[in-house]
Amino acid sequence: MGRLDEKVAIVTGGAMGIGWAACYLMAKEGARIALTDIADDEGNEKVKLLEKEGREALFWHLDASEEAEVKRVFSDINQKWGKIDILVNNAGIAGVDKATHEISSEEWNKVISVNVNGVFYCTKHAIPFMKKSGGGSIINLSSIYGIISAPDIPPYHASKGAVRLMTKTDALIYAQEGIRVNSIHPGYIWTPLVADLAKRSAEGEEAFRKKLNSLHPLGHVGEPMDIAYGIVYLASDESKFVTGSELVIDGGYTAQ
Ligand code: NAP
Repeated sequence: MGRLDEKVAIVTGGAMGIGWAACYLMAKEGARIALTDIADDEGNEKVKLLEKEGREALFWHLDASEEAEVKRVFSDINQKWGKIDILVNNAGIAGVDKATHEISSEEWNKVISVNVNGVFYCTKHAIPFMKKSGGGSIINLSSIYGIISAPDIPPYHASKGAVRLMTKTDALIYAQEGIRVNSIHPGYIWTPLVADLAKRSAEGEEAFRKKLNSLHPLGHVGEPMDIAYGIVYLASDESKFVTGSELVIDGGYTAQ
């Protein structure tokens, strides 16, 4: 028996990195997976991989920062499988790495539109379906950068701090309806997002990774599966008494 049997899960940004690891592990635990992303080729490929392993999954193109698209796709998913039990608000971008006074409002708004508005739109349009079926679990990907600061990527810090508190507010608003809302705070996880930051860094990819490793007391950056295990826990009924919480998975980064 799987830990997520009978559940329908939506993952935004599910084609790569942490989102893909979440799709893979939730499918293995028996969930039906709505893998959504703006990366169509990778998304369709990943669904084929899941099908090959005998899992139930479908791909939907979805830009989480476009409200009309979110509304339409969530309605399609509900029509297909009759309910929505789990929403993993994972889609996120790092954005520009400049000092605050050098950032244009377009650069700032781009990060906010995906990382903050995307979480808002997806939560907004999942809630009515969850209310109808008597509950659900929403898992928001914040970051260690939503808890502590660092002298880099200012709009990203702002966005992840916002997601941390949006999570707690929604946890309180919907607690009586059996809808749980929790945030996850990963340390650095080696994904395409971080590999891209490494490529853009002044010191070069290799030195960047070494520096990142040294920032984590456990001595290395994490893997997408380290986060996926936490997602499965929060998605499952094993966490039925957990809402408004912050699950920190960071190799000790924020304990220092
Ligand atoms: P990733 O490797 O860049 O994967 C993110 C996926 O989301 C990609 O497939 C990306 O497509 C897609 N995406 C980008 N914008 C989107 C949009 N508007 N709508 C839907 N999908 C979109 O990222 P990741 O490192 O796995 O990060 C996943 C989440 O964890 C993010 O919220 C991130 O902030 C958070 N997080 C990551 C780390 C880390 O160290 N990796 C640490 C803390 C928190 P494209 O590639 O085509 O853009």
